[in-house]
Amino acid sequence: MLIGASLLYDLSFSHLNGYGAENSTMTICQDEPKTTVFTHEVFNQPTPLVDFNLFLSDIVLVDGLKRHRGSWAYERISDYGQRMGSAEVLEWADQANRYTPVLKTFDRFGNRIDEVDFHPAFHKMMGLSAENGLHNLPWAQQQEGSHVARAALMYLAYQTEAGHCCPMSMTYSVVPALRLQPELAKIWEPRLVLNGYDGKLKPAGEKSGVIFGMGMTEKQGGSDVRANTTRAVPISQRGPAQPYRITGHKWFCSAPMSDAFLILAQAQDGLSCFLVPRFLEDGTKNNFFIQRLKDKLGNKSNASSEVEFRDTIGYLVGNEGRGVPTIIEMVNHTRLDCAVGSASVMRQATLQAVHHCSQRSAFGKKLIEQELMQNVLADLAVESEAAALLVLRLAESYDTASSNEEQAFRRIVSAVSKFWICKRAPQHAYEAMECMGGAGYVEESVMPRLFRESPLNSIWEGSGNVIGLDVLRAVAKEEGVVESIQAELNKAGGSDIRFDKYADEVITQLQAVKRAILNKDLGVERTTRRLVERMALALQGSLVVRFSPDSVVDAFVSSRLDHDHGMNYGTLHPGVNMSEIVERACPLN
Ligand SMILES: Cc1cc2nc3c(=O)[nH]c(=O)nc-3n(C[C@H](O)[C@H](O)[C@H](O)COP(=O)(O)OP(=O)(O)OC[C@H]3O[C@@H](n4cnc5c(N)ncnc54)[C@H](O)[C@@H]3O)c2cc1C
Repeated sequence: MLIGASLLYDLSFSHLNGYGAENSTMTICQDEPKTTVFTHEVFNQPTPLVDFNLFLSDIVLVDGLKRHRGSWAYERISDYGQRMGSAEVLEWADQANRYTPVLKTFDRFGNRIDEVDFHPAFHKMMGLSAENGLHNLPWAQQQEGSHVARAALMYLAYQTEAGHCCPMSMTYSVVPALRLQPELAKIWEPRLVLNGYDGKLKPAGEKSGVIFGMGMTEKQGGSDVRANTTRAVPISQRGPAQPYRITGHKWFCSAPMSDAFLILAQAQDGLSCFLVPRFLEDGTKNNFFIQRLKDKLGNKSNASSEVEFRDTIGYLVGNEGRGVPTIIEMVNHTRLDCAVGSASVMRQATLQAVHHCSQRSAFGKKLIEQELMQNVLADLAVESEAAALLVLRLAESYDTASSNEEQAFRRIVSAVSKFWICKRAPQHAYEAMECMGGAGYVEESVMPRLFRESPLNSIWEGSGNVIGLDVLRAVAKEEGVVESIQAELNKAGGSDIRFDKYADEVITQLQAVKRAILNKDLGVERTTRRLVERMALALQGSLVVRFSPDSVVDAFVSSRLDHDHGMNYGTLHPGVNMSEIVERACPLN
């Protein structure tokens, strides 16, 4: 797919029979692609976007890292960005998705093994990201800005290969939930902070690093986990950290080769959270049966499976009946990553589109110089910048969660960002693909993979409506949530009259919705999506107004806050400085 310094061409002549060519195949090794083929010269085709620093070419990310106290990780992130933009790693990403994981239920002798075979490229991706702490940075290095630094790494990883980000994310996210059960955290946290990766199925204690998964969703209910039928019975004593026997299934269980999982099952006092290891402490395998792998739209490199538990050993995390509040500690962090991941998809899509259009001409001009294309590209870039600003600000709130206001902010903005940014990604990926014409539709470009990835973050970890209802719940019932939004919006007050007006309206609307829910007024739920959209736009607007250049402020505020943006990208008002926005998005060209 990706062209490096040296190329191998297989030229098959068999289709030219009758035109003077023999049936033969020859392999040519050369340093540069051959631009003269048999019938024509190859020209007006962009160069591949490889061997560049994904981090340093991203002004919004570089600035955001500094602003949110992540500068100490600058070098690590820059090195990682260089690797993620390298032809070699981009090739791994392609291979990991082209040669998808295969379930090996039995060995050749008929013994049940329940292993997943991945292409070596997937393991390389996992190894590189684990080495850089994508699965553990804030827990391994407890430093201010560490969640922001990790979010920046994740933002880069997701652009190159999204599938392996799922196990990275679940592993990072498990720690706060695990800490609710100190006896279990004492065993697992020292393993979690290791930066090694070992893809083999063997006891966690023998590995240079571990990976965690999560199992909540069952056939009869995913959003409504209270419908779970999987049961847990204590082996001897009931209570936190005690072993139980678990029987039942999980309909979705991504990364089944993980070393351990947090899962939900019904115990005597109700839905409870359990830590299920793949190996037991005596070194024998736990009962963990992988029934089949899901045949998915995208996220192909990541093995998502259906699993069964039969007398599987799991250790209770937290109290019986407190399964949801326990596992939600994990889910909050994976929701942050969903927003980061979708912002990242938009960033990569923007980059690909701008790069393509800066080298491709039509009707006598580069595409990037065509006025209408400038509008589309600038609009995509503005959306991507606003998403990046919001996820970095959100990641900061994970760092400074000690203040009550930040905790309230984190609570509400995790949900709002997850809803909005994840919902914006598919349309964005599609529009970026269209900028590349037919070239964007073929697998060799990264666009089909981005496009297939783009709806996923909105579905898992709470689908759109569920997240919307969660926002309503938080607004109505949780202290300080509306005030935390208001405080954030106030920081941008006074610099743009259009923003001020929009922010005031959103706060008024929030207060009205809060009153309506408390009064149990009918129909409030129906207004949820519009409310959440407006909250997200106000938050993004506040960050754009404070931290983006005038061109981006003008474009964002006029299109998203002052007027109806319309149904498609490319609808910025004609006076916007589009070329400046586009250049900022892709300074490589
Ligand atoms: C690739 C992939 C990997 C996954 N990996 C995992 C994993 O590792 N572990 C895991 O536990 N799960 C995993 N999931 C499952 C995922 O989290 C669920 O699919 C998701 O939570 C939705 O649950 P569901 O599929 O049962 O849909 P449902 O709960 O049936 O929801 C269907 C629709 O109804 C909406 N809805 C639900 N309730 C309401 C309501 N009250 N009002 C209005 N609308 C409502 C939802 O928003 C959704 O749009 C994975 C999913 C995918 C696609």
